[in-house]
Amino acid sequence: MAQLTFLGSCREVGRSGFYLEEKKESILVDYGVKFTNPPSFPDMIPTDNLQGVAITHAHLDHSGGVPRILRETDASLFCTPATRDLSLLLLRDMYKISRGRLPYDKKDIALVRSQCQATPYEQTVPLGHPFELTLFNAGHIPGSSLVSIRVNGKRILFTGDFNATESQLNPGARKNLPKHDVVVTESTYARRINPPREKTEEGLVDTVLETLERGGSALIPAFGVGRSQEIMCILEQSNIPRKYPIYVDGMARAVNDILTRHPEYLQSPKSFQRAVKRSITIHDNRERTKAVKKGGIVISPAGMLKGGASHLYFKMMYDNPKNSIIFVSYQIPGTPGAELLATGKVTVSNREFEVIADVRQHHLSSHSDSRGMLDMLLKIPGEPEFYTVHGESESCDALVEKLEKKGRKAHVGELNETVEI
Ligand SMILES: [Zn+2]
Repeated sequence: MAQLTFLGSCREVGRSGFYLEEKKESILVDYGVKFTNPPSFPDMIPTDNLQGVAITHAHLDHSGGVPRILRETDASLFCTPATRDLSLLLLRDMYKISRGRLPYDKKDIALVRSQCQATPYEQTVPLGHPFELTLFNAGHIPGSSLVSIRVNGKRILFTGDFNATESQLNPGARKNLPKHDVVVTESTYARRINPPREKTEEGLVDTVLETLERGGSALIPAFGVGRSQEIMCILEQSNIPRKYPIYVDGMARAVNDILTRHPEYLQSPKSFQRAVKRSITIHDNRERTKAVKKGGIVISPAGMLKGGASHLYFKMMYDNPKNSIIFVSYQIPGTPGAELLATGKVTVSNREFEVIADVRQHHLSSHSDSRGMLDMLLKIPGEPEFYTVHGESESCDALVEKLEKKGRKAHVGELNETVEI
């Protein structure tokens, strides 16, 4: 019997990690970071008989601790080539801003490239004695995977983060999955129903157009990997006149380069290329000031106005009623974005701002909502047993309850719990 240990993302979002052992051999799926101060990681695992490490996708809550593992082992890293390149970009960026507070160094980050065995979707790879691994598209960000492991004739699926619905950037998660015995699933939005995707996109484009037509500029704070490109694609598909420039700040340019090299992970490589051509990349403060003066649409990290360049734009744009600030992701309570949406005021860089610009939210989720999640999970053949992770405690419980109501066996994966498979 194989043993599965839940190392992280148990009743929380952050620091994912799953350790699977069979006899003396083992594999690890995800090893992420949680942005506490200092950053925290799942417990360290024995690496002597580690046969491989798999990452579901590049977001640091899934990949941020991987160099800590690779420095201890020669085992290969399995992920899509897009995930490898995006992870490297995010890991290097985190290293730069962490000022030596990480349990690994730059050399260890380079192992993500040298130890990676780039694995496309749908190809089964044998690793070690007992394990076989296959990646399937997860639909969450370009390159994201559902990781399927076969051990002793049983099949376990780790969903990572997934979105069953296609978007302008990502094809939806793989339908018609093979039979599985166990599914370890995310539960981020297990208590939410999202409005139809097209409605949200329309709402976003309408707000942007209204702003531009009244002579204002639109600031869209957005995470640089995935979300910024999604917005670029939505705007490209819309009828926004070409006289209005679209500026993109932050690491979006590096991400655009990576995605251009891996078009097979995009919903429409052509539409993405048109979006890239249309956008103007911003590099420094001089260009930021110039862009705001000229007016148009600015897409800039961070998505919740915390860090990144978005707070610089905010300070130049908050006091004009013609401008708008448009949030496109969930705003975690306690972030400037959440404060602004709730009160119309916000504290940025220790200063309180009374915001006169129009503040809106059009939430473009890159996760399935509770309906989409349940629908996809219940369609996995083989009557699998479920473990819920990667959600607030209440969301993990809610998904278990929903699955049980449908007559399925389901449990919340608890921190450092080991189960037999
Ligand atoms: Zn993610």
